[in-house]
Amino acid sequence: MPFTYQRSSALFDEAKKYIPGGVNSPVRAFNAVGGNPVFVERAKGAYLYTEDGSKIIDYIASWGPMILGHAFETVVEAVKKAAEKGTSYGMPTELETQIAKLAVSMCPNIDQIRMVNSGTEACMSAVRLARGFTGRDKIIKFAGCYHGHSDSFLIQAGSGAVTFGSPNSPGVTKGTAQDTILADYNNLDQVAEIFKNNPEQIACIIIEPIAGNMGCIVPKEGFLEGLRKLCDENGALLVFDEVMTGFRLASGGAQEVTGVNADIVTYGKVIGGGLPVGAFAARKEIMNYLAPTGPVYQAGTLSGNPLAMSAGIAMLSHLNNHPEIFDRLAEKTKRLHEGIDSVLSQKGIDYTINRYGSMISVHFTDEPVVDFDSAAKGNNEWFKKYFHGLLEQGIYLPPSAFESYFLNDALSNEDIGITIDAVEKVVKSW
Ligand SMILES: *Cc1c(COP(=O)(O)O)cnc(C)c1O
Repeated sequence: MPFTYQRSSALFDEAKKYIPGGVNSPVRAFNAVGGNPVFVERAKGAYLYTEDGSKIIDYIASWGPMILGHAFETVVEAVKKAAEKGTSYGMPTELETQIAKLAVSMCPNIDQIRMVNSGTEACMSAVRLARGFTGRDKIIKFAGCYHGHSDSFLIQAGSGAVTFGSPNSPGVTKGTAQDTILADYNNLDQVAEIFKNNPEQIACIIIEPIAGNMGCIVPKEGFLEGLRKLCDENGALLVFDEVMTGFRLASGGAQEVTGVNADIVTYGKVIGGGLPVGAFAARKEIMNYLAPTGPVYQAGTLSGNPLAMSAGIAMLSHLNNHPEIFDRLAEKTKRLHEGIDSVLSQKGIDYTINRYGSMISVHFTDEPVVDFDSAAKGNNEWFKKYFHGLLEQGIYLPPSAFESYFLNDALSNEDIGITIDAVEKVVKSW
């Protein structure tokens, strides 16, 4: 059956009348790839079912959360059971302690965790806590790392000799931008220089320990260890944004697989099992700074929501009881990597494939992709053709060259074989 967009297109037109751009998060509008976004009717396992009646293989997993595949039974059951008991109380529940205890037991180096409602909120709160704890204002972030849409992170590099950032969205004030210093991913010397130029002013470094928002970018040997050392020497905190990597790369996330300890860790995506959840965690001495114990304010009417906590408990319990899932996912991702690699290498076009665990990205450049600038060298015209070609073959990739794919455990080797065949069909016609 040929791939069609008729109903999706009509739904998008209707959506645009009442929702800005027709979407509630910009990447869904397909601006980076052009064309009409696909509207989803339902999903199960590794497959999305579109409003036009197509069944497509999903490589974004809702941008990560659906690591076990869509509509995973124990998660769905947990949500149903919780809903019958009421959907929110604004009072403490035992569920909150259960998920906290579980998360703390799975992740290295954290004693306590605070639940919020999104990754954005988690990162925003983590930075406030780091500032409150250190009594300092400035933060270091890396170009191309995404930490949600709060003001401090919507920053681009300053021009010329200016070392602090400037707003990259209207509405972010210059004052806010001045407290965020931009560095290039994998450039340790630059970070050392920033510390030297801003003595006793840096509250924290925030980083995606394995980056997933400029494609998948792997930290160079010694880079994270070097950041850890610089933080220790300068009295700054190291914040790992594990919204993507947490409970995806391993039970204990990037801290576990890299062996580098962070001071504050943020979570999101997988931890909510597909419901809106974020969290931030640290050792007790840092978390004690948080209200109501300490002076740093942070709150949320729906934080620790019983439906979300029930979904998260079901998700984390399953991962905790089946740690083989992480290796299995990495194995599937390797299989996909090798397949795409062999197809593209025969075609004689420039490409680079980055992979770490269950994260992978294909960049249409022959240079190593190690930071935002090198990721930006990818040929976007090729990416668009690749993306739309695969969609028409029933394969759903992230609709932007700056995003990683996220594999899920429901993907079969057959699905991966179908995907590689589709890549071959698509590039053959170029
Ligand atoms: C998705 C993401 C966020 C933001 O999470 P939201 O739930 O979309 O607010 C923050 N950091 C990283 C690394 C992410 O991938």
